[in-house]
Amino acid sequence: MNELEDIETHVENIFYDIIENYNTISTGLRIAGWHVSDFVSPCLRKSYYGHTEPKPPFERTQGKIFWMGNVIHEHVLLSQINEYTMCYDIEKDVSLQPEIVAKMSKEETRNIITGSLDDLILHNGEFIIGDKKTWNARGWDKKTPNPEYVLQLNIYRVLLKASMGVDATSGCLLFMDKSNDLEPKPMAFRLQDMEVTKKYLRETLKVLQQDKGPDPKPCWLCKGENRFKKVYCDYAEKCDSETNRQELISLDKKLQDFAEDQKTQELINNIKTTTKMDDFN
Ligand code: SF4
Repeated sequence: MNELEDIETHVENIFYDIIENYNTISTGLRIAGWHVSDFVSPCLRKSYYGHTEPKPPFERTQGKIFWMGNVIHEHVLLSQINEYTMCYDIEKDVSLQPEIVAKMSKEETRNIITGSLDDLILHNGEFIIGDKKTWNARGWDKKTPNPEYVLQLNIYRVLLKASMGVDATSGCLLFMDKSNDLEPKPMAFRLQDMEVTKKYLRETLKVLQQDKGPDPKPCWLCKGENRFKKVYCDYAEKCDSETNRQELISLDKKLQDFAEDQKTQELINNIKTTTKMDDFN
């Protein structure tokens, strides 16, 4: 390494030190038990592994992925009440103080879910749960909010009512486009009846607590169907050794090919029909 390269490495290290320190401070209380993100994941088996397996090693360079989100969350405060952490016992339907849950053992928190809402906004006499999401639109116009984010805010509604007695009837996601100077796109929606969400929480908890874990659900997290063929599930290898994930992927591929064939066939039939009609005209 020459002297200039040495300077570059030094500067890069300072950058990653700043990110690492910032992310550590932003993490907040370490609480055992389930997290809201476990209940909204497209694959519950991944949530199960996250709960039962040792944490995979975290590359220092990966910190920058979370850094920008953390900075935005700290500086874009949409209300006086923000970053509010809530703990809730799914079976007993009661809230618990986060500081108390933080001292509990893993076994004691087996039915407890924790979540932190970004902002609680009061507008026209109504409470609204706000949540900020950074994303890369790259010119794509989002028409509807992601179902998993809608579910996330519905779960917050239950936790909020139990912990503060406040009933927020609406949610609003604030998407900020990283590919366009954080162009904001708010998406508001009504939240569902809390009993429906509570039922979902109870049923999903049972699935997560199954002895051998939930069934695998190959999805965008592990199929590598992206520009960089990246797999976003750290447990893919383990999952392959314990489940029929690969079979499910190839079955899915076959179904997709079949659907494509059907579509092509329909297209051919349409062309044939059109041609016949034109022949009569
Ligand atoms: S590899 Fe895929 S199916 Fe398996 S746990 Fe991860 S996301 Fe789920």
